[in-house]
Amino acid sequence: MRACRNCRMIINEEKVCPKCQGTDFTEKYSGEIIVLDAERSEIAKAAVLNAPGKYAVRVK
Ligand SMILES: [Zn+2]
Repeated sequence: MRACRNCRMIINEEKVCPKCQGTDFTEKYSGEIIVLDAERSEIAKAAVLNAPGKYAVRVK
């Protein structure tokens, strides 16, 4: 599992981030936020995450 340095989305094998099209990934991340419904999720709002998916809390 790797996290996008730009938007913090956690992905598996993708070469390009499905959310921001970034290609800068790191395996050094901590914590996970799972956003199922970005519109209604208070966690997502607090973290400024606007698309469903799995996100790292911190990216190194
Ligand atoms: Zn991204």
